[in-house]
Amino acid sequence: MNNVELTYTNKYIPLSREELIEKLKKALTQSRFEHVLRVEQMAIELAKKNDVDVEKASVAGLCHDYAKQRPDDNFIELIKKYRLDDILLQYGNAIWHGEVGYLLVQNELGVTDIDILNSIKHHTTGAKYMSKLEQIVYMADYIEMGRDFPGVEEARDITFNDLADGVAYQTKHTLQFLISSNKPVYPKTIDTYNEWVNGSNIK
Ligand code: GDP
Ligand code: FE
Ligand code: FE
Repeated sequence: MNNVELTYTNKYIPLSREELIEKLKKALTQSRFEHVLRVEQMAIELAKKNDVDVEKASVAGLCHDYAKQRPDDNFIELIKKYRLDDILLQYGNAIWHGEVGYLLVQNELGVTDIDILNSIKHHTTGAKYMSKLEQIVYMADYIEMGRDFPGVEEARDITFNDLADGVAYQTKHTLQFLISSNKPVYPKTIDTYNEWVNGSNIK
């Protein structure tokens, strides 16, 4: 499950891919670590299909859930330290690990590329504006080969046919899920819906 052959140039992260993988292994549970390897692989495939830099896709895919296992206190401190929007305090790890966690990728792993950082920041909720890389990480997380939910095959087909349609499909289905389970919807998720699903013809 680790058959990616890539030598990093150090343009995006001051680590080799092997060093990054060692850090991720320490930061994550085994199952989460295996998930990030699958997200990397899917992000690379989508990058090739959509003319996006494969090394950026690899770094972003590997780092997207870097903060997933941090305790809540860690995120609350960061929200206060960086004076982030107070509304974040009404949510939890599901929103914080991307929306706040990208700062840990910047501070601890040394990633400075804003496109990679934004793709980590927006990987859970999407955003009104998403670069190709951001769309790729958002979709790779949803359709990586370990995902097994009703509709995942359809989501893969749609995404490989048209990346933006994939974004619309995921956004619509995630919002339907949140509403059906009476969960709070983060405002950025609604912005994503209005930009990407409104007027789209996906089912
Ligand atoms: P993972 O980190 O690989 O498990 O995947 P994600 O980062 O995409 O999602 C983490 C969780 O956030 C999932 O359970 C989503 O359903 C949930 N989620 C996505 N958008 C929202 C939102 O607007 N509000 C809330 N409360 N949860 C959300
Ligand atoms: Fe995540
Ligand atoms: Fe993930």
